[in-house]
Amino acid sequence: MLPPALDKVATLLSRLPGVGKRSALRWAFHILAEPPAYAEALRTALGELLEHVHFCAQCHHLAETELCGICRDPARDTSLLCVVEGVPDLLALERTGSYRGRYHVLHGSLAPLKGVGPSQLRLDNLESRITQDGVREVIVATSADVEGEATALYLAKRLAATGVSVTRIATGIPMGGELEYLDDHTLSRAIAGRIRLGGP
Ligand SMILES: [Zn+2]
Repeated sequence: MLPPALDKVATLLSRLPGVGKRSALRWAFHILAEPPAYAEALRTALGELLEHVHFCAQCHHLAETELCGICRDPARDTSLLCVVEGVPDLLALERTGSYRGRYHVLHGSLAPLKGVGPSQLRLDNLESRITQDGVREVIVATSADVEGEATALYLAKRLAATGVSVTRIATGIPMGGELEYLDDHTLSRAIAGRIRLGGP
């Protein structure tokens, strides 16, 4: 019924979060209806995304160079390390302007029922970063849901041997709350009122 090429674009778009089959098809029609320069620009932009954007070798944030801008910033307090589940959470914390340490992006959270264990998270270099950077406090800023809590407890246990202080952002966060949707004020308060999970 539809040209296969159009159907392919719609199918790919429908894989994006929050995009149903019908909106995906509508988007595909829109792309086709625009002057060809638009689809061309989209192709170029996607190509550049693939080619240039990767994960920071240190914190796993997005970067176009080996290290991201935050890891390269000498003004950052290297004694503080904030662990987040994803890049949107990092961006939410950056927006508040109230955190000046560095980050560690896990790209997920522990979910044993879905088969996500520690080996699927970006944890390999966490301990070495703590040692090399002289980190004094690891702030766990995972979501206030079952998986976020499980991740926080796992990290407190795992890092106990390093002697670093492990804290969790305060539970002013509503249960089930994802960081990226919190307003700046609530998030700033959550950072300021963090509680101790382990260590000195
Ligand atoms: Zn980085």
